[in-house]
Amino acid sequence: MTRSSDKSFAVIGGGMAGILSVIKLREAGFGKITLFEKADQLGGTWRENTYPGVACDVPSHLYSYSFELNPDWSHLFSPGPEIHKYLLNVATKYQVLQHCRLGDEVSQLTFESGKWKVETVSGFEDIFDFVVAATGVLHHPSYPSISQLDKFEGHMFHSARWDHSVEIEGKSLGIIGTGSTAVQIVAATAEKVGKLNLFQRTPQWVLQVQNPSIDDKDKEKYRENPSLMLDLHEELSKSFSDNFANAVVDANSKEVKILEELCKMNLAHTVQDPILREKLRPNYRAACKRLVISPNFYEALQSPNANLITSPIMQAEPEGIRTQDGELHKLDVLVLATGFRVDRFMRPIEVFGRDGISLDQVWRERPSAYLAISIPDFPNMFMLNGPNGPVGNFSLIEVAEVQFAYIMQLVERAMSIENGLISATHRAAEVFEAERIEAAKNTVWVTGCKSWYLDDRGVPAAWPWNFEHFRERMAKPIESDYELYTPVSV
Ligand code: NAP
Repeated sequence: MTRSSDKSFAVIGGGMAGILSVIKLREAGFGKITLFEKADQLGGTWRENTYPGVACDVPSHLYSYSFELNPDWSHLFSPGPEIHKYLLNVATKYQVLQHCRLGDEVSQLTFESGKWKVETVSGFEDIFDFVVAATGVLHHPSYPSISQLDKFEGHMFHSARWDHSVEIEGKSLGIIGTGSTAVQIVAATAEKVGKLNLFQRTPQWVLQVQNPSIDDKDKEKYRENPSLMLDLHEELSKSFSDNFANAVVDANSKEVKILEELCKMNLAHTVQDPILREKLRPNYRAACKRLVISPNFYEALQSPNANLITSPIMQAEPEGIRTQDGELHKLDVLVLATGFRVDRFMRPIEVFGRDGISLDQVWRERPSAYLAISIPDFPNMFMLNGPNGPVGNFSLIEVAEVQFAYIMQLVERAMSIENGLISATHRAAEVFEAERIEAAKNTVWVTGCKSWYLDDRGVPAAWPWNFEHFRERMAKPIESDYELYTPVSV
């Protein structure tokens, strides 16, 4: 197919979705592509999260680009540095780097005369026809508001800002949080540190899943016959969706109940001490918070040097953390595994759409986008892994691939008229918002827990339907849900 290669694209963010965007745009025949990445290297989450034990809890043969399956994955759930290396290798192979502007942060996006002006903190600016925001969701660290935290005199950092210059071996390590991140850190550090102190505000259900290595014979098989990897990718995608991702959107599904039983069994069989067991038992349903998987979290917590602290944190002090029971937990290093601000998306970039309307104003209550992709009045700007989209329970690579194919159809449609501009209508965005809020009532996420899925109203900010429904909605844009116009008609 011949394409108008004079159209230009700004891709914001150099993680998995940004790399994908450049590859797919090149494949579609576009050449004028600039990927803006504020860091000095690509890799997104996998560049940023380098804490001990970091890994992906989506199987690696599923958490791979469908067009670049990898015979060399070392484990069922491969470690973070390996995923980062994979992304860098793919970026190199597909010549993504030549499109990158690294180490320069986008500060403003302004829609002017039918185009997007992109400005960066270094003073660089350029004009583009289209913007793809691939800025991630779990990106802006959330810091806890703990009294006198600045008074702590040991080393302290957020899990996504791990300071590798700090020695933890033999030291007293404090970890605040019990989400997926903290669980991985606990399992990876318990044997190394002198004392492990886990500050638990809310216990988590933990599904025990082993993480076997993939042996050389299997790798060889995949190398010789790549179709085996494709079969595996499909198989994993189906089983992951059926047994997990689709289950959580129906609180009464038999699969959720099975997950619940498995979590209860893990707790009952793995934790010997009944007092510790009860401290670790959540009072809400499994998968209400994003389910944590680990082969050995409970084992690590039962190490002689591990201490589960359930008394609420009162304040930080120079020597450590004091809890409400009056005890001072002396620490050398404190890790804040306290999650992310999931309502930020491309912000703090200032974004001004049609008639100068500001995204901050549009999102003043909370972020939203039609089908997580298009925002009314922000034409020719599309989001990957945008607000309320499938996040958390799917392979985000698969999600981004499906979303990008949809975005390309919108680009095609915009290009079907001269200087065409496209964005979702207000009506379509409102209907979608109402539908998803209604559907969210059936999910396990609203069955009585607090989590990062829930917005300030308690509505899950996540795709509340199954993956098939996602694929169906993404197969082809509904024409009447979009406004197609030209700068003259604006
Ligand atoms: P998270 O799930 O949001 O967990 C944050 C933890 O910090 C919670 O236990 C929370 O307690 C605790 N916390 C926050 N503020 C606190 C305070 N002031 N005092 C005490 N505790 C406090 O964050 P995360 O573990 O970084 O995980 C975020 C998401 O990243 C995951 O759900 C997952 O989607 C993704 N992730 C994926 C992987 C993977 O393997 N693919 C690995 C890591 C992360 P409460 O529960 O009481 O709020």
